Amino acid sequence: MTSHPSPAATASGEPLSAPLASRVLVLNSGSSSLKYQLLDMRDGGRLAVGLVERIGEQTSRLRHTCAATGDTREQNGPIADHHAALKAVAGELSRDGIGLDSPELAAIGHRVVHGGKFFTEPTLIDDSVLTEIERLIPVAPLHNPANLTGIRTARALRPDLPQVAVFDTAFHTTMPEYAARYAIDTKLADRYRVRRYGFHGTSHAYVSRATARLLGRAPEEVNVIVLHLGNGASASAVRGGRCVDTSMGLTPLEGLVMGTRSGDLDPAVIFHLRRVGGMSMDEIDTLLNKRSGLFGLCGDNDMREIQRRIDEGDAGARLAFDIYVHRLKKYIGAYYAVLGTVDAVAFTAGVGENAAPVRAAAVEGLAGLGLAVDPGLNAVRGDEARLISPPDARVAVAVVPTDEEWEIAEQTYALVGKGV
Ligand code: AMP
Repeated sequence: MTSHPSPAATASGEPLSAPLASRVLVLNSGSSSLKYQLLDMRDGGRLAVGLVERIGEQTSRLRHTCAATGDTREQNGPIADHHAALKAVAGELSRDGIGLDSPELAAIGHRVVHGGKFFTEPTLIDDSVLTEIERLIPVAPLHNPANLTGIRTARALRPDLPQVAVFDTAFHTTMPEYAARYAIDTKLADRYRVRRYGFHGTSHAYVSRATARLLGRAPEEVNVIVLHLGNGASASAVRGGRCVDTSMGLTPLEGLVMGTRSGDLDPAVIFHLRRVGGMSMDEIDTLLNKRSGLFGLCGDNDMREIQRRIDEGDAGARLAFDIYVHRLKKYIGAYYAVLGTVDAVAFTAGVGENAAPVRAAAVEGLAGLGLAVDPGLNAVRGDEARLISPPDARVAVAVVPTDEEWEIAEQTYALVGKGV
């Protein structure tokens, strides 16, 4: 597990006037899933981790791990809705003596995908906040309804407890207008809230700060390019701790090649598929979000499988890998230019943390920009943040495991600690 800075300080480094209770429950609610972690902010320890899957189906499953005992328990069988799911989670936590009724629980932190322009910071949830998250459903039709369900369920269970929304978009609200706007009619853009919001912000925030820490410097002193390469993937340019550009846009479809999303493409491809291919808008939506990217290119979206196929000489997998890396390299170059000077490039998430060949290929040929990877260091596997560039490199290249749950817990605890 990644080590964390002293939990007695907030994200901005200010000391906390520590409230008595020290635990934060983090909930990440999807349309048919509920991920959770219970953290102790005194020592940064994880008390429990779990996931409820296939909520609403006959084959629901709850998988719960208690950190103190190392026990993992599973419940299989129908869990009707999110309320039942959270009740089942509460039951598991009670069995471990860390139930949701404990006075040690300080707050619940919720991941909320879309906060629009409105939510620039973690926000204590009240009815007006829920209304605003609801108003953003048209720009996040898949995610915000599920996040709202999670919040409502948790509020029903512990109405007395502070609940905080931490937005995936918040870190990117510092982007200047010229990076956030598309070059389309301004009035239309404003009317329909069409602009670049960016996503994975909690991860970009965490990783950019953790990278500064790895360099032994303050976040305000460093410029970092963060490459969050999971099944979804995004890049960001972070100047002195503030995001100045990011690759995802109105929705998570823009930018890098992803597991199943196309990333950037000429918008006229959509008109073409509609007019010439006769596809419906819903079919094109599904094509670009669920059947494109690595999957569309070669039939696999898992980088492990793609690497295995490349090792066997598979040309389709090779081409998919090359397209993926080419796009990544273009974004590194673009964000290098946006930042002017770069102190570090940080790789994170499933692919970024594990796929050494992707990291090596992404910076190959960029020695002129001061970017290089040491093959020996790049091959080392581990859970800790580490440098993979040669010791004399002008720009640090790092692998920095992300920890969105910790970031949500820390932001939640900092807000509650301020007595807001
Ligand atoms: P995430 O969305 O961050 O959980 O990342 C999931 C993706 O990470 C998977 O779809 C894989 O493509 C990739 N991944 C996970 N482990 C490895 C690994 N050991 N080597 C290469 N890719 C990996």
